[in-house]
Amino acid sequence: MDKNARIFVAGHRGLVGSALVRQLRKQGYEKLLLQTHDELDLTNSEATHSFFKKNKPDYVFLAAAKVGGILANKNYPADFIEQNLAIQQNVITAAYKNGVAKLLFLGSSCIYPRDCHQPIRESYLLTGALEPTNRAYALAKIAGIELCWALNRQHGTQYISVMPTNLYGLGDNYHLENSHVLPALIRKMHEAKIKNNPEVVVWGTGTPLREFLFSDDLADACIFLFQEPKERLAHLFNENEPPLINIGCGEDLSIKDLSILIAKIIGFSGDLKFDVRKPDGTPRKLLDVSKMENLGWRYQTPLSQGIKIAYQDFMEKLSKEI
Ligand code: GDP
Repeated sequence: MDKNARIFVAGHRGLVGSALVRQLRKQGYEKLLLQTHDELDLTNSEATHSFFKKNKPDYVFLAAAKVGGILANKNYPADFIEQNLAIQQNVITAAYKNGVAKLLFLGSSCIYPRDCHQPIRESYLLTGALEPTNRAYALAKIAGIELCWALNRQHGTQYISVMPTNLYGLGDNYHLENSHVLPALIRKMHEAKIKNNPEVVVWGTGTPLREFLFSDDLADACIFLFQEPKERLAHLFNENEPPLINIGCGEDLSIKDLSILIAKIIGFSGDLKFDVRKPDGTPRKLLDVSKMENLGWRYQTPLSQGIKIAYQDFMEKLSKEI
């Protein structure tokens, strides 16, 4: 990827998009096209197409999406499917119409069937029923993967989709209801520590297993894929396999063990109370990351180190709010 390339990072203020901008700048890419939501509403087809026509990006990272944790997905399924279908439809078709050579579309590990074999291989896509709590979001993402694949088949583009495992990192969403488990527990445990509360409520049974990846590691993987020559990614560009690749660390732990780890890092010494009225979601979703490993990429940040960095970031965010 040429250092002078014009790179559009859609969703640059989000968890993944901001990590992409940090990593791209670190690697010397300066010509980044960045638009806030107020400047460009990607659910607006006309605005998106005219942005592409005017700015002619060479490469696109599509990290803009409506995202949220298990409860947000359960409570607002219409928003999740509607907004994600619109964003990806507009950005991917505008990219194709304006000659964008390479595009990377951010998917999610929740696109795979709920009860599929573990670790999850890319080939398990569409082999079974989805987890109901995030089916609307997952179906939108699956449609986006098919759109990339269809353009590759019909027009020879190089549009790929990455399936990251559960992510966390700098600038995460720490909302108590709508966020994902890791940032939610950082906040809950910090507040309990400060207020001397004897217990923290953890949703569900604590038994589901999840795999976590630091967002800067994901960004590094995405840029790595863009820099790989087409021949090395041949398996992503053929008629028979969708152009998708898993990105994770290859290890998971239970929500209970995650809670214990976060409590230790934060210094919360009270009890954990499991609220079984809240949904557990998928019992397990560990990704098979051998495709990335065979290309020579591995994650860098161990979970405990990443949580320490995220906690520090949370504290900084908090001090700015006060
Ligand atoms: P998921 O991976 O799509 O299920 O998304 P989440 O990160 O929202 O949830 C992962 C697991 O953590 C689920 O089993 C939740 O029930 C559990 N969990 C425990 N406490 C919390 C919490 O405070 N917030 C969230 N979002 N999930 C929690």
